[in-house]
Amino acid sequence: MSLEKRLSASFDDSINASQLEAARGASIRNVEAPKNLSKPSDPPGCCACFAPLPEPTEVDVVLIGAGVMSATVGLMLKELEPSWKCVMFERLHAVAEESSNGFNNAGTGHAGFMEPNYTKEVNNPDGSLKTVTTDKVIHVCEQFLSSRQYWEYLVRKGHLPDPDTFIHQTNHIALGIGKDQCEFIKKRYEAMKPNPLFSSMEIAMPNEIEKQKKWAPLILKGRDPSEPTCMTKISHGTDVDFGTLTKSKVKAFMKLGGDLRLFTTVTGLKKEADGRWLVTSKTQAAGKGVNKVRAKFVFAGAGGWALIMLQKAGISQVRGYMALPVTGDWAVCQNPKVVAQHKVKVYAPGAPGAPPMSMPHLDYRTICGKEALLFGPFGSITLKFLRFGSVFDALKALKPHNLFPTIQALSKNLSLAVMLMKDVFKSGHGKLMDIRHYYPEADPEDWTLIPAGVRAQIIKRDTKTGWGMLQFGTEVVHNEEGTIVGLLGASPGASTCVSIALDTLQKCFGKKPEFKKWEPKLKEMIPTWTTDGFAGDLKDCSQRVVDGLYTKTGKGLKVYP
Ligand SMILES: Cc1cc2nc3c(=O)[nH]c(=O)nc-3n(C[C@H](O)[C@H](O)[C@H](O)COP(=O)(O)OP(=O)(O)OC[C@H]3O[C@@H](n4cnc5c(N)ncnc54)[C@H](O)[C@@H]3O)c2cc1C
Repeated sequence: MSLEKRLSASFDDSINASQLEAARGASIRNVEAPKNLSKPSDPPGCCACFAPLPEPTEVDVVLIGAGVMSATVGLMLKELEPSWKCVMFERLHAVAEESSNGFNNAGTGHAGFMEPNYTKEVNNPDGSLKTVTTDKVIHVCEQFLSSRQYWEYLVRKGHLPDPDTFIHQTNHIALGIGKDQCEFIKKRYEAMKPNPLFSSMEIAMPNEIEKQKKWAPLILKGRDPSEPTCMTKISHGTDVDFGTLTKSKVKAFMKLGGDLRLFTTVTGLKKEADGRWLVTSKTQAAGKGVNKVRAKFVFAGAGGWALIMLQKAGISQVRGYMALPVTGDWAVCQNPKVVAQHKVKVYAPGAPGAPPMSMPHLDYRTICGKEALLFGPFGSITLKFLRFGSVFDALKALKPHNLFPTIQALSKNLSLAVMLMKDVFKSGHGKLMDIRHYYPEADPEDWTLIPAGVRAQIIKRDTKTGWGMLQFGTEVVHNEEGTIVGLLGASPGASTCVSIALDTLQKCFGKKPEFKKWEPKLKEMIPTWTTDGFAGDLKDCSQRVVDGLYTKTGKGLKVYP
């Protein structure tokens, strides 16, 4: 049969017609199920809701959500304790469909190579820029080195596939447009260059236009020559497809015996007298659709819903916490001729006084093997804590204990609300002008707007002042016994998933007998990891050690220094 005929199935099509004929033999739908196959747990007809629930299944670990965080913690635990029963519940139809999905985040392997928001300005008494701080940028870079070490280990062990499937070497460029920003980029370079982590950083000053054109041609093409630009470059930056990485990690988790349950929403968490957690989940099952498992340890890697999960568990450590969900759109360019000219990631400082997430960037991406450019994000306000969440999420999470901190934090961050509102009401032309600020010759026909993921930023009480504040980082929040833990916040995000997993294990198991047994294995996974110090921080940051780390992890991940 011709392809055309198969695609336009008409009434005289023999395939469709055959379905109209009377079925030969007994159809499965027409006969009664054999009596001897019924089980005591089967729902008793129309009174199913009165039937007793099945006994809870006993497990060691429950992971809520199948994003990059649960995938990392789950895989690590399965490697450390192969005999532990670990079950991962995911409410959606697949792994990594929320923030960890390739198109829902920017895919930047955040190493501080180009992100202006990790270096704070320090001014002279006359208000001119003196220098920038480097403590945060060093911390972010060291955390990403932990991720690189663990991923290299996983590739070597055969737990992750060819690194080409999830990580790509990409020049990381910090861009300054205009006199003030150029000065900032220069000072940033001077402060960072002496550190071994950033020693390969190069600079192209405003008068080195040819060099800049070579590094990032789209940025320079058609630009007003009277407007100065300045760039720094580190060539061993990365673009990470966190979606593919998460899927590969969950595959490895299952290969080691981990149990993934899709279409299953965790709805309740109750601590029992012996300290274990009774975890209730719901599915659209043929039975009652309510399941209970009893777990010794729960990891709430539920993205924006982690706060709601910890509130359900009723742990005191989460009192006063709230989330501020921020979402937005990306502009995506799929024109291969344009993409081929910008195989780099370019970040520039946001407008003066604007919050960190307003920092725009033009990124080369490879997602599931497809190359594209992403610009943005254009911010937007939402009430949902997840992209596929509910408009009642914010209302559900609002409690008497977090009401005042929320009001105080919001009133102190009006600039963020103003920025988001400006983006919400920005016309298509306004968005094009934003793209052209970076890429002056952008053709509107090349750019499509798509939704980005949701970042649920942390609102909490400032321990010093007692006032509510907005925090842009991530925080591992756990109960005193270390039997339940959740990850709140969204930045730097997926890049730090390995330090977050280490922090989780250290905080929850550090004082338990099994941890001593895990130490050699953890050292094998992340050779720079130590029990003292913050998860991910480097003890020895000499040029020799740093070069060794870049070389070894670069070889394994095909990201060459
Ligand atoms: C616009 C944007 C840009 C970003 N850019 C970067 C970047 O460039 N680099 C970077 O490193 N990070 C970036 N991030 C951050 C990064 O994407 C996130 O930090 C990371 O993906 C969070 O992973 P997660 O596993 O915690 O959450 P998610 O990926 O959101 O996964 C949570 C999962 O839990 C499931 N779930 C929730 N509640 C339940 C429940 N009750 N029962 C069952 N399942 C549940 C959800 O369905 C979801 O699958 C960005 C984020 C955004 C939004």
